[in-house]
Amino acid sequence: MLKGKTALVTGSTSGIGLGLARALAAQGANILLNGFGDSQGPSAELASCGVRVAYHGADMSRPAEIEAMMAYAASTFGRVDILVNNAGIQHVSRIEDFPPERWDAVLAINLSSAFHTSRLALPAMRAANWGRIINIASVHGLVASVEKSAYVAAKHGLVGLTKVTALENATTGVTCNAICPGWVLTPLVQKQIDARAAAMGLGNEQAINSLLSEKEPSLQFSTPEELGALAVFLCSSAGNNVRGVAWNMDGGWAAQ
Ligand code: NAD
Repeated sequence: MLKGKTALVTGSTSGIGLGLARALAAQGANILLNGFGDSQGPSAELASCGVRVAYHGADMSRPAEIEAMMAYAASTFGRVDILVNNAGIQHVSRIEDFPPERWDAVLAINLSSAFHTSRLALPAMRAANWGRIINIASVHGLVASVEKSAYVAAKHGLVGLTKVTALENATTGVTCNAICPGWVLTPLVQKQIDARAAAMGLGNEQAINSLLSEKEPSLQFSTPEELGALAVFLCSSAGNNVRGVAWNMDGGWAAQ
């Protein structure tokens, strides 16, 4: 379905980003990987789908490196047809204890990077009259939790950016939508499970149960595969007129 298209997935060396890259490659999209983890294993795996795969290690907190990555994407693949803004970090702390440099880092990576990639990808998408921008926000783009001020602010901001991007391109073939996952068991969340286990004197399984039962009524993690299937839908022709949506896949979290 996506043969001949190129997808850039930021933060795709692990977790959700890698799941999204797998789903898009399985539909025939060439992939530009990005992130700080191992790129060789994922590159070889994705290339086995018969697509072209490249990697750029831009730090998404640095606009100059983002510009270099977008130039590399254009020179390697011609243009980015599908932009998935997925790179993200978390910091958990009350506001009065929140280190200002962590606030700046969370905002830069989780929000500002999507502005920079989008502003650089949009001209070629508009010229082709086809493009998909998918912003991986969070249920924390819709509701808040304590001790996540920077993350909640960034993800609410990303949902806002999604709506503006969708509106500015509404008469074109370029769509922009956000996906808002609840809990997904990735390295980012395992750190929070470990912290909970240590703070409450729990084993890993007990800490997982405690985490899920606090917010997620289904008591289940969503998976990178499920999120990948939603991204593929948004890239399909059935998604042509889905614009500015913040689609939660959260086990009922935001329905409460
Ligand atoms: P993860 O830690 O497994 O993956 C994050 C990816 O981002 C990694 O590839 C990492 O190398 C990359 N990254 C981090 N800092 C970077 C930087 N400065 N520059 C470039 N790449 C960088 O986390 P994940 O859980 O897969 O998270 C992916 C996205 O999904 C994030 O935006 C996160 O906020 C969002 N999300 C995750 C969950 C969850 O439960 N896991 C829920 C909702 C939203």
